[in-house]
Amino acid sequence: MVQNRYTLLEHVGNPNEWRYTWQIRDDITSSSTCEFCGRTAQRLTYEVSHDTRTAWICESCVSRYNIAADLDGEPLGPKAARGYAHGLTARLKQQTCHDIIRSVQAELPTPELEEVAVYFDRNVQLSPQHAARLFAALAQIGHETIASVFEVQTRSKAHQQEFGELADEQRRLVWNALSQQQRRRLTSLGFAPSGVQITRRSGRKPPRVEIQLAAPRIPVVSEAAGVELVPKSKPAQ
Ligand SMILES: [Zn+2]
Repeated sequence: MVQNRYTLLEHVGNPNEWRYTWQIRDDITSSSTCEFCGRTAQRLTYEVSHDTRTAWICESCVSRYNIAADLDGEPLGPKAARGYAHGLTARLKQQTCHDIIRSVQAELPTPELEEVAVYFDRNVQLSPQHAARLFAALAQIGHETIASVFEVQTRSKAHQQEFGELADEQRRLVWNALSQQQRRRLTSLGFAPSGVQITRRSGRKPPRVEIQLAAPRIPVVSEAAGVELVPKSKPAQ
């Protein structure tokens, strides 16, 4: 087994003997630590258990190991369990974004933000325009760093154009929430906000591994029975 690229903490034993408990945490401050590999600065962590022990593990470890589970009393193989975990993750991230928008609205109850909320609930992402509005509101209440939690649509020509037509200051706000790939694409179209530069990696280092979450708008799980999405504030058990 090729394991040498990853660390597995000694207490873990055989990672494939652990099972999901179906508790997932979304730490928007990205300050969680993986208790399998020790990676820090994690946003999403998944609780697994083995005998009487529990641990919170990162997305990479979820992808790397064959962790099984039970669902409503039925055994779920590793592949199905991983798929189910990804589905829960997508829902949890969606819920996080929904909650953030609602809490911004509580502070700034404007029709513009209501429109953003409705758009997000329908699309699970933000158009560049809606993102600019929301991020301006976040900045206004001193929470601009949360913007990176949101996904902004830039794939279609229409959305790219929409981004390009934003004022420079708005593009700058939205820029913070974009992936490197999105930034590169928009830069190539001449839409980068003034003064920003894309950092190009020299060498051929592969990009960091990230799990591709289920596409938005797929109804992920129809029944949440027995599934608990734990907000960050809940203490670990
Ligand atoms: Zn890990």
